[in-house]
Amino acid sequence: TTATMDLKQHIRGIPDFPKPGILFYDISTLMRDADAWQVAMGRMTRAVAPWAPDMLAAIESRGFLTAAPLASRLGCGLVMLRKPGKLPGATVSHEYDLEYGSDTLHIQADAIRPGQRVVVMDDLLATGGTLAASVALLRKVGANVVGAATLIEIRALGGRDRLDIPVESLVSYD
Ligand code: 5GP
Repeated sequence: TTATMDLKQHIRGIPDFPKPGILFYDISTLMRDADAWQVAMGRMTRAVAPWAPDMLAAIESRGFLTAAPLASRLGCGLVMLRKPGKLPGATVSHEYDLEYGSDTLHIQADAIRPGQRVVVMDDLLATGGTLAASVALLRKVGANVVGAATLIEIRALGGRDRLDIPVESLVSYD
């Protein structure tokens, strides 16, 4: 039944993607199963609703897939955090370090009204670098970031310890 559904059975670990030695958790199989995706979004809705967000912030690109259905269920707005060169109009950006090199996320400058309650969404929490950068970017534009939510968390990488906001995840691995 839906109450007892084990979402892990719908997520595949694909070895050596995108590089040798990396085990990639693939959410494609979760999304392509209509019942499993409904259950996942239902659980996510119940996890995020208590934060009473005004807006969800979706991290490109798999965060778009979790945030859009959730915003629709919660009846709140949706804003995209995107890689450089994708958003029209004035943007605010934040650059952050990766294992090798750096990356930058942008948000439209007028996307958030100061003090709005924002929950940031992605598919997976690993080291927490991506979510931490997203929180920093959202704060630059005056957001009150009240939480983060992902489908999957890799606990051993300690991502939630890098964040100063509460985190909800539906499924975790060691
Ligand atoms: P972090 O910044 O927490 O180390 O990595 C999380 C980011 O990398 C997320 O944006 C996520 O989409 C991506 N990511 C890293 N590993 C995986 C994985 O195994 N599966 C999926 N679906 N995304 C991953």
